[in-house]
Amino acid sequence: MSDEGYELEYIKEAFYTNWVAPLGPNVDGFERELASWIGAKHAVALVSGTAAIHMALKAAGIERGDIVFCQDLTFAATANPIVYQNATPVFIDSDFETWNMDPEALEAAFDKYPDVKAVIVVHLYGLSADMDPIIKLCRKHKVILIEDAAEALGTTYKGKFAGTIGDYGIFSFNGNKIITSSGGGMLVSDYEDKIAKVRFWSTQAREKARHYQHCEVGYNYRMSNIAAGIGRGQLKVLDRRIAKKRYIFEFYKRQLNGLDGIRFMPINDWNEPNCWLSCITLTGQVRPADIMEALDNENIESRPIWKPMHMQPVFEKCDFIGDGISEKLFENGVCLPSDTKMTDDDLLRVCNVIKGLWTYS
Ligand SMILES: *Cc1c(COP(=O)(O)O)cnc(C)c1O
Repeated sequence: MSDEGYELEYIKEAFYTNWVAPLGPNVDGFERELASWIGAKHAVALVSGTAAIHMALKAAGIERGDIVFCQDLTFAATANPIVYQNATPVFIDSDFETWNMDPEALEAAFDKYPDVKAVIVVHLYGLSADMDPIIKLCRKHKVILIEDAAEALGTTYKGKFAGTIGDYGIFSFNGNKIITSSGGGMLVSDYEDKIAKVRFWSTQAREKARHYQHCEVGYNYRMSNIAAGIGRGQLKVLDRRIAKKRYIFEFYKRQLNGLDGIRFMPINDWNEPNCWLSCITLTGQVRPADIMEALDNENIESRPIWKPMHMQPVFEKCDFIGDGISEKLFENGVCLPSDTKMTDDDLLRVCNVIKGLWTYS
C-alpha cells in the first residue's frame, strides 16, 4: 500500500526518539495534519473508525434506550457502536440519486420516532450524501448528526470535505481504505471540549492525579505512535491516490458505458467524490453474480455492494424506514477492482472480461 516510502521516515523517527507507544509526536502530527487537510477544527486519533463512531455516540450523549437513526446501506461497523451504547438503531433507506440516506425516508422516520437522539449518515464508496436537507432536518429536530466518512476521505460536498459538515465526522485508516495507518481511525469535530473528552475516555479515563484515579469508565482506544507515523506518510500521497481513483472510475466509464443495463454510481453536481471504489448496477440480462464469477475465473477479485443492515440477522428486530432501494442496490450492484496500483493493462483486462459477457449473452 506504500507508494513513496514516506512512512518509513516517520516510523524510524519514532524508534530513534523512543516513542514506540500510544501517544507521541506522530499522533499529534497526524491529528494536526489530517484536520488541516480537510479543514476540521479538532481531531483525535483512535485505533479504528469503529472506535471513532463509538466515541462520537458517547460524546453525543447516547445511552441505554436511546434511538439512533442509521443509514441502512452500509458496512456493519457503522451500526455496531449504537449497540455498544445499548441504544437502538432504526435503519433509514437510501435513494438512487446518491446511494446514501434518503432525506424523505429520514423525514418519515422523524415523524415516527420524535424522541430520536442522533443520526449517522454515511458517504458510501466516496459518494457524498445530500447533506443540506439532512442537516436541515437534524437542526429542526435538534439531534446530533454524525458523518461516517470512513470511505470518503477527500470527498467534497458543495466544496466542503465530507466529515466536516455535521457535528462529528469519522474516518478509517484500515488496510482497505484510501489511505491506511495499518489500522486506525479519526474523530473530528468543531467541539473542542468534546474532542478533549474523547481523548480522556480513550486513554482509560485516567483523572489528573499521580495515583490511578478513575471517576468514569474508560477505553483503550488511542492510536499508537507507530500507526500514526504510517498515517502521516500516507497522507502525503492522498491527493495522488484520489486522482488515481478518479482516473480508474473514468477509465471504466469510457470502456463500459453503453453496455445494456449498466449504470455507474451517481455523480451529482455538488459532489466531488474520492471514487474509493468504482461501482456499477446491472438491470439487464447480465447479473452481478455473472460479472463476479467471470472475474473470479481470471483470479480478479470483485465484491457486491454492502448488504443492507435491515437484512442482517443480527439486526432483524430493528425497524427499517424506506421503500427497498438499499435492497435493490444490493441485488444489482458490483464493486469493480479499484486498487490504485492497477495499470491501464490491468484495467483493460477487467473491462474485456466484463464486455465478454455481453458478447455471448
Ligand atoms: C471501514 C468502515 C468503517 C470502520 O472502520 P474501521 O477502521 O475498520 O473500524 C466504518 N464505516 C464504513 C462505512 C466503513 O467502510
